[in-house]
Formats: sequence, structure tokens, C-alpha cells
Amino acid sequence: MHKAYDTILQSEVSAELASQNSGFEPYRYECSNCGEEVFVAAPYSTRMVAHFRHRSGNNDVECENYLGQYGTISTDSSSRRNNRERAEFYYNNSTKTFSLALRFSENEIQSYEQQSVDFELRTKDSDMPFRVLKINSMNFSPDVPTLIPLNNFSVSYYLSNTLNGASRKYDFLKRGSTPTFFKLSGNDNDFKAKLVRSTVLYTKTQYFVSLHSQYSVPQGVRLPEGIEVGQTFHFNTMNRKFLGYVLSITDKTPSIDCLLKSWGYQLEASETLTLLWPPSYLLDDASIIASDYAYIFSSFELQAHGNINMHSEEIMKFSQGISKVKVKPKTKIFKKNAEIVIDKVAPTVDRYNVITPYKNFASTFTVPDDGTYYLFNHSGVSPLTNGQVVFLTPNSSIVRYEFNFPVGYIYPCLQKELAGEELLEDILAHYKRMEAFDSTRFSTLVLTKTTSKYIEKCKITGSINPVVMQFVEEGRI
Ligand SMILES: [Zn+2]
Repeated sequence: MHKAYDTILQSEVSAELASQNSGFEPYRYECSNCGEEVFVAAPYSTRMVAHFRHRSGNNDVECENYLGQYGTISTDSSSRRNNRERAEFYYNNSTKTFSLALRFSENEIQSYEQQSVDFELRTKDSDMPFRVLKINSMNFSPDVPTLIPLNNFSVSYYLSNTLNGASRKYDFLKRGSTPTFFKLSGNDNDFKAKLVRSTVLYTKTQYFVSLHSQYSVPQGVRLPEGIEVGQTFHFNTMNRKFLGYVLSITDKTPSIDCLLKSWGYQLEASETLTLLWPPSYLLDDASIIASDYAYIFSSFELQAHGNINMHSEEIMKFSQGISKVKVKPKTKIFKKNAEIVIDKVAPTVDRYNVITPYKNFASTFTVPDDGTYYLFNHSGVSPLTNGQVVFLTPNSSIVRYEFNFPVGYIYPCLQKELAGEELLEDILAHYKRMEAFDSTRFSTLVLTKTTSKYIEKCKITGSINPVVMQFVEEGRI
């Protein structure tokens, strides 16, 4: 089979690319046709193309025919054919306890709820379940992990549900004095750590490592150079005594390789993955942004249907490891130790008050110290200082700002429209020029009381103010 559903990436992936991105955890890949677990066959072969095969060994011809061809690959998380739980184990340092994290999709929760299905957890396949939980929307949110505290010690657990009788065995802690590795998230003392379910560890990655013992306090392990140990502590949970380390492996050396191999692990170089833009916040392990696109730095090439649940046209690659990717619900990039989930939310609008700016009128204005004031006039905008006295001229205004919002406007007092006697006096006071008086120009005009009185005077003096004459001719006085 050329493609399969990747439960970690929540997208279909091609076998060829899946083989390049490693991390073959149990139950990770599922047949896109029947939903059965598949695995990458011939991942490192130079003679054979990597392909998926049913884990059970059954060579279902229908699945082969259906999936053998190179066809379209779906990045839709709902293209999954299997509806089994997706499970991970966690250690929580603030409570010093272990838990099982279960996820179901929205469709799975709905379908299980309609059929009233229980999830069951056992320490032995033949035992009674020690934990039963209804799979419904009360207990599960779509694609969000529901944590089930583990109080009954076991090195492996059996997960099943009442609809599908077959249980899946999940290995948990290693036996005896062999340490179990968990990958750390968060840097402070409240860190969480996810069980490494594959056999691969990475350099420059922080791990929580646990050792357990039933009766005595577990003894520490002598670690070779190249392993940096942070905090070391003892704790008790599940009626067992635990020794915990936080460590990271800085170098790949033969002695480290040898030690890890004896514990069932192998070491590979780590990858780097960073969300460059836009700024984000973390919610349930997802980086939440308010944009349709994200800029990513990665030390590896982003491969559509390989290590990101996107089609190639939704990824734009720039130089030096920078890519721009379209952000869809639960956009996920996963390769080796590097993992990110990006989700988009609509930008939240905070509750706000509508500010209705006030309007005042003044001829002079003394700037108070209750905000920021600017003067707008024909020469532009200038800031005003406290106590400054401003004479407001026509077409000028002062604007008051609070927190960069305009909250008030001060306009010059409206010029009173002069009329009649006042207007005449105003003109005579400001325009001193006089011209020779020509009485014929007024013979056809209807004069007001004010103007006829003025014209009479002009007849006597033989001169007239030209502006008054213009106003009279235009009927404005
Ligand atoms: Zn199949």
C-alpha cells in the first residue's frame, strides 16, 4: 500500500515520506481502506519502495487494490477509517502521577455516544476492567485529551471498548532497573512529559526518566559523559517507589549508544522546529494564532503528506529553512522530536465602549493637564503643552486625545454674522478707501433705511466706500 492514515499527524501520509520521518510507534499508522493497523515495510531498503502492510499479516487484496495505486492523499483528519482511541501516557510533575490520555474525534464521540459505548482499561487482558468510562461528550471533547489517572500499577495496559471487543496492549513502564523515557514539555517545575512509545530518542531533547521498584528505593544509574542531568527526585505513586531524572543527551557517543541500546532505545540527531510568526499562545498543546498563515523555521524540509498534514500547494518554501504554511484546524508538523500543532482562532474583540467625543467652542483656550491636545490649523498639526494659551482662528481646531483616541473637539467661536448698521460700521472701520460717488449707480436700487442714510451722506461728501458700494449693489446690506 502506498498510503495510510497517520494517527499522530491526523492525516493520510505516503509510505515513502513516512519512512523518512521515522518514529514507528505502535498503532500509529492505519489502513486507509479498512482501518486496521499497518506498518512501514522496507523503510530503509534501497531495492524496494517503502510501503505499508497490515500488522496482522493479512494480505487483504481489496486494501491492496484500493491503496496500491498512487492516488490522492487526504489531509482531512476525518478520512480515518478506524475509530479506536488514540492513547498516550503522561507523567505530571506537579502531582507526581502518571495518567493515560485518550482522544477521540467529534464523529467518534457522537457515534460511540449513540451506541452507548464504554471505554475499558485493564492491567491484564483477562481481568475485570479497573476503569470504565462512557465515551460521550460529557467525558470527552473532540481531539482534546481526557486524562485518566493511573492508580493501578502495571508495565502494560489493555485498552478496549464495549463495541469492539478486541483490546490493544500498550506498553507503559520498562521492567526492573531499566529506565523509561518520557519527552518533556514545559520548562518549569510543572512540566508534563509524554511517554516515548517508539524506540527512538533524540539528542538535545529534554526527557523525564523514571525507574521504579516495589519495596526499596530504586538505585540511580551511572550515566556516561554526554548526558546532562537536571533535577533528580524520589516519589511514590501506584504503590511503587520511583526515582525520576530530568536529562538531555548532548552528544552521540559509543558509550551512550551502548547504554541506550541495553535499555531498548536508539539515539538520533534532533530536529528543530519553531513558529516564527505570528505570535501565539498555548492551549492544550496547540499554538493558537489569529492568522490564516504561519511562518515556520524547520531544520528539515516540510513534506506534504510526510511530516505536515497539508497539501504541497499549501506550503511555500523560502530559503534557509523558512516556510509559510496555510493554517487549517489542527495544522500539525511532526518529525522526530520536533512537533507542533497550530490552530487558528478568530481574533477576540474585547468589550469596548463607544466614545462619543464632545464639541466645545472657544475663542481662546488654555490647555488643561487632562489628556493630550493637538492644534489643527492651516499650517498643519502641532502638539500643545499644559497651560499653553491658544487663540482659535477660523478653520482651526483643537483635538483632545485619551489613550490615542480623540475624545473632544474645540472649535473657534462662530463669527456672529454682522448685518445692517453693524455691518456698515464694520466695513467702514476696516476698509478705509474711498472713491468718487456716482449717484446714477444707485438710481435703480432698492435701499434699506441704513444704506439710504449712508448714500445721502455720500451725495454730500461726493465720495463712497467701494466695499460698501459693492455690498449695496449685491443686496447684502
Ligand atoms: Zn486494510
